[in-house]
Amino acid sequence: MSELSHTTFPPGGWQFTQPQTGWSNPSPMGTTFDGTVAKIYEMRRKNPAICLRHKLPMDMPSIAKELDLYTRRRIGMPMPTPPAPTTAIGGFSSPILSNIMDIKKLAIGAGLLMEWNSSGAGKVSEFESNARAKVCAECRLNSLPNYEHWLKVPVAGSLTARTEQLKALKLVTSHDAKLGLCDATYCPTSYLVHAPRPILDKRIGPKVRPNLDAKCWILQP
Ligand code: SF4
Repeated sequence: MSELSHTTFPPGGWQFTQPQTGWSNPSPMGTTFDGTVAKIYEMRRKNPAICLRHKLPMDMPSIAKELDLYTRRRIGMPMPTPPAPTTAIGGFSSPILSNIMDIKKLAIGAGLLMEWNSSGAGKVSEFESNARAKVCAECRLNSLPNYEHWLKVPVAGSLTARTEQLKALKLVTSHDAKLGLCDATYCPTSYLVHAPRPILDKRIGPKVRPNLDAKCWILQP
C-alpha cells in the first residue's frame, strides 16, 4: 500500500506537532485531513517570524504534503515516489514576482539581509524594534499574503539558510503576528524592524525611499 487515504482517519488520527511553537492538533480523531491542514495554516499564519526562521511552509498545498509525510512517518508507511522535478525559471516563480521590477525589489531585501548578516552588526534595542514594528503592523505596504508568497520563492529558502548570524540575534517583537513583507523593499518586516540604522541607510537608498509609506519609520531621522 503506497497511497495514504486523506478521507479516512489513520491510526491515532491526524496528529501533528509543531515543536517550534509548541502547538499540537488538539483533536486528531475529531478533525479531518483538510481541517487539520487548515489548523496548521492558521497556527503558522499567526507566527510568521518563527516560520521564516525555521523555513516552515505557509501555503495549504505544502502543508497538506507535510501532514501526509508526517503521518506516513508516524505510522510506518512507505514514502510516496517523488514526482519528476519541475523547473522554476531563474529560480523565481511566485505571484509576487510578476515583472522585472519585482525581481529588482527582491534583490533590495535580499541584499539588506545578506549585508547585515555578514557585517556582524547586532540589532536595535527592544524599545526601538517594537516602536518600528507597531508602525509596520499598521502600514498599507506591510502584506501578510505577500510574505507567504515570498516564502515560496526559491531564493527565500537559500537566503534564510545563509543568514545564520541574524537567526542567532533572536529577532522578536510584540507585533510579530502582524508583520509580513514590506512591499517597498521586499524585505520581511520581522527582520527589517531590527536592522541597525547604518545598514538601512546603505541598502535603502534614494531610489527606494520614495516607495516607502510617508509614515514609514525608516524616513524618520
Ligand atoms: S514602508 Fe516602512 S512602515 Fe511600511 S511596511 Fe515598509 S518598512 Fe514598514
